Amino acid sequence: MIDPSTFIQDFRTLYAKSPQCGSWTRGSENCEYGDILTMSKDCYMCFNTGNSRNAYYCEDGRVLNDSVDCTFCENCELCYECTDCNNCYNSNFCQDCNNGNDLSFCYDVRRCKNCIGCVGLRDKQYCIFNEQYTKEKYEEALKNLNLSDEKTLEVIAKKTEDLKRKIPRMFTHQLDTQNCTGDYIYHSKNSFCCFDTRHTEDSGYIVQANLDKGTNDSYDCGPVPTALDLCYDAAYVDYLFNCQHIYWGSQLKDCEYCVNCIEGNNLFGCNYMHHKTGKFHILNEEVEEDFYKKTTEEIRKILLENGIYTIHDLIYKELKQGKEHVDNKDPKRKCLICENDFELTPQEIKFYDEKKIVYPPYCFPCRMKQRSVLRNERKMYKNTCDSCKKTLITTYPTDTKYIVYCLDCWWKHIG
Ligand SMILES: [Zn+2]
Ligand SMILES: [Zn+2]
Repeated sequence: MIDPSTFIQDFRTLYAKSPQCGSWTRGSENCEYGDILTMSKDCYMCFNTGNSRNAYYCEDGRVLNDSVDCTFCENCELCYECTDCNNCYNSNFCQDCNNGNDLSFCYDVRRCKNCIGCVGLRDKQYCIFNEQYTKEKYEEALKNLNLSDEKTLEVIAKKTEDLKRKIPRMFTHQLDTQNCTGDYIYHSKNSFCCFDTRHTEDSGYIVQANLDKGTNDSYDCGPVPTALDLCYDAAYVDYLFNCQHIYWGSQLKDCEYCVNCIEGNNLFGCNYMHHKTGKFHILNEEVEEDFYKKTTEEIRKILLENGIYTIHDLIYKELKQGKEHVDNKDPKRKCLICENDFELTPQEIKFYDEKKIVYPPYCFPCRMKQRSVLRNERKMYKNTCDSCKKTLITTYPTDTKYIVYCLDCWWKHIG
C-alpha cells in the first residue's frame, strides 16, 4: 500500500533495485567505449555523439569523421581540438569556424581556406594572423612552420590570442532567433537563458537541446531533451508532454518524479516501467484515479516539507530533521546551494504559477549542474551485465551499488 509519509524512502529503495542501462550506445558498431552514441562506427571515448566514424574523444557532436578531441562540432572531417565548428575540413585548434578548409588556430572564421591564426575573417584564402599572403608566400611560410612542434604551437596560440583581443566579436552566438538570450541558440524564439539549443520556443533555462525536435513552453530541461512541451526539470528525455522531474524518460504524458520510464501517462514516482498508459501508477503500483489525485497531492506537500524540489533532490538529497521548506514568493532569491543571489523573470513566474510549481530555491547554474550529474562521469569501466553476464563497457564502476544491464537485457526486463 502506498504511504505518502514514507514516499521518499520508498522511491529511493525502488530506484536502487531498478536496473540501470549500462550503455545507451545504439545502432553503432565498434563503439563500446563511450556513451549515448547513435548510428556511429569505430568511435572511441565519444559521448552524446551521432552519425560519426573514426571519432575519438569527441563530445556533443554530429557527423564527425576521422576527428579527435572535438566538442560541439557538426559535419567535420579530419579535425582536431575544435570547438563549436561546423562544416570544417582538415582543421586544428579552431573555434566557432564555419565552412573552413585547412585552418589552424582560427577563431570565428567563415568560408575560408588555408589560414593560420586568423580571427573574424570571411571568404579569405592564404592568410596568417589576418595578413594576406600570395599562394606561393603562404606555402613557403607553411613549410617553415613546424606545426608539430609544441613551442611553435604555443607561439601561434599566443599571437592568435592577442589578435582575438583586438577584433570585435558578436555578443552572442545566435542564428535565426527572435527575442532570445543565452548562447549558441538556433532557430528559436522567446526563450531566455538557453545554451546550445535549437528549435526552442517560449521557454527558459534549456541546455544542450541540440536535436531537431525542439522544446516548447518548458523550463529547466536538458541536457539532451528533444520534443518537449510544457515540461519542467527534465534531463535525458524525449517526447514528453506536461511532465516534471523526469530523468531518462521517453514518450511520457502527465508524469512526475520518474526515472527510466518509457511510454506512459499518469506515473508518479515510478522507475523502470514500460508501456503503462491509460492507468494510474504511484511507485510502480497501479492505483485508482481518485486515490492517485489525492495521494500525489499529499506527497507533493511532504516533498516540499523535506526540501525536495528536483528529481536530483529526490534521488540524492540528504534529508534533515524538521521542516526545510519556507514558502517564499519573492522573485529576488538566494540560492540554497551556492548562496548566490538570483532573480526570477516574469515569464518563468507565469509558468510556475500556471503549473503550480514551487518557485525554485536554487539558481540556474546549480539546477543545471544537478541535472547533469544525474548521469555518471565520462569514464569507462569493464563490467558485466547483471542479467546475461556478458562483458559490458560502461560508465558504471565495478563496485556500483546499482543493478546494471546491457541494452538488450534492459529492454527485455523493463516492467
Ligand atoms: Zn546556486
Ligand atoms: Zn545482458
